[in-house]
Amino acid sequence: YRRNPGEAEFHQAVDEVFGCLSPVLEKHPEFAEAAILERLCEPERQIIFRVPWVDDAGQVRINRGFRVEFNSALGPYKGGLRFHPSVYLGIVKFLGFEQIFKNALTGMPIGGGKGGSDFDPRGRSNAEIMRFCQSFMTELYRHIGEYTDVPAGDIGVGTREIGYLFGQYKRITNRYESGVLTGKGRGWGGSLVRPEATGYGTVLFVREMLATRNLRLEDQRVAVSGSGNVALHAIEKAQALGAHVVTCSDSTGYVVDEGGIDVRLLKEIKEQQRGRVSDYAAQRGRAARFVADGSVWEVDATVALPCATQNELGEAAVKRLVGSGLVAVAEGANMPTTPAAITHLQNSGVLFGPGKAANAGGVATSALEMQQNASRDAWSFSHTERRLEAIMTDIHQRCAATADEYGLPGNYVAGANIAGFVQVADAMLSLGVI
Ligand code: NDP
Repeated sequence: YRRNPGEAEFHQAVDEVFGCLSPVLEKHPEFAEAAILERLCEPERQIIFRVPWVDDAGQVRINRGFRVEFNSALGPYKGGLRFHPSVYLGIVKFLGFEQIFKNALTGMPIGGGKGGSDFDPRGRSNAEIMRFCQSFMTELYRHIGEYTDVPAGDIGVGTREIGYLFGQYKRITNRYESGVLTGKGRGWGGSLVRPEATGYGTVLFVREMLATRNLRLEDQRVAVSGSGNVALHAIEKAQALGAHVVTCSDSTGYVVDEGGIDVRLLKEIKEQQRGRVSDYAAQRGRAARFVADGSVWEVDATVALPCATQNELGEAAVKRLVGSGLVAVAEGANMPTTPAAITHLQNSGVLFGPGKAANAGGVATSALEMQQNASRDAWSFSHTERRLEAIMTDIHQRCAATADEYGLPGNYVAGANIAGFVQVADAMLSLGVI
């Protein structure tokens, strides 16, 4: 805490992981002797830079850019870029720290990192977004590379932004280095299934969790928060597997649609019109109701999928949901559930899939994109989706088996943290004190 003052989200993420590790450290004193914990929470490199750009009115704007290269014991740093006004070092570090263990859980050779900017894309024109991305990459390019650090998208960064970033990287370096960024468009090195992967993977993880109690997705009423990349595809997959999804949201409020979210309409509004969930309610007609400024967790559900942002699902909300029949929560977003809410869920016997396991399908498919780029290949949708399914089943199995091994059956938080940690710690021991 003293070394990293004022970084509340980073402290929260470290506490969650380290809080699970005492049985591991008892079993493996060599980890403490090699100061693995101390080394893990000190990023290998942190880059903070100025991002100057000119808006459409000709005014010069200044934002702050970040890339935190956290740990490369398993492979090149890998993790997304977030463009949101709330971004500061503490957010980037929490995300980068979580990414280390998430990436380990995927079983792919990728280290952990994260980046972004306090730039607010909301209300900005396409030309402004492009100029911002170009300026951001004009500094970032010297720090990244296929074998060094491979950024992707996150909040506020989708295929459009990755395109502008990749274009500028290519222009500055004069290299068509496809493997330097993931989340690219299909026509220029992107992988099929990458846009869907995080949301789809989260739902596949839920299916596995439910199966441990002989429950089926088909019988579930699902509340989803958010209406971005992760939320849209979580809704789509949950519906494809037979669940009844009744909500979505954004920072202005939520929609409840008892007829089931019309995901095609929602996608059209979000991806084509770049509209809001209130537009969805307006266009959907009487079936849907928009609640301005409300919390989506006011709606009853048996499965909750928080897919928007950190600390969005608190203790009071889960108490209410548990009281009305909640059976499972899986985090599509990173750290959306507060520590007190997680404790309450676990004490109430609700299945809880933490983000570093449940939403790992996105980064896993990014690693599949890197494989395709390295071999100059492009796989079919069905082949890539089968790989994603196998990875999610494997992550679920690893978390469950590790929790059992440490005497904590059904505790996916402990299972994910311990399994991810042990893999990274073993690699760090092998690589020496670096
Ligand atoms: P998007 O930018 O596509 O969507 C974000 C959604 O969350 C929007 O609906 C947005 O509403 C809402 N949101 C964001 N910040 C806030 C806030 N402070 N308060 C209320 N609502 C908010 O991002 P993604 O879908 O890509 O990411 C969502 C979450 O999933 C993040 O936690 C991200 O780290 C995590 N994640 C994403 C992965 C990916 O592959 N994209 C991979 C793994 C995790 P509004 O438009 O009003 O801001």
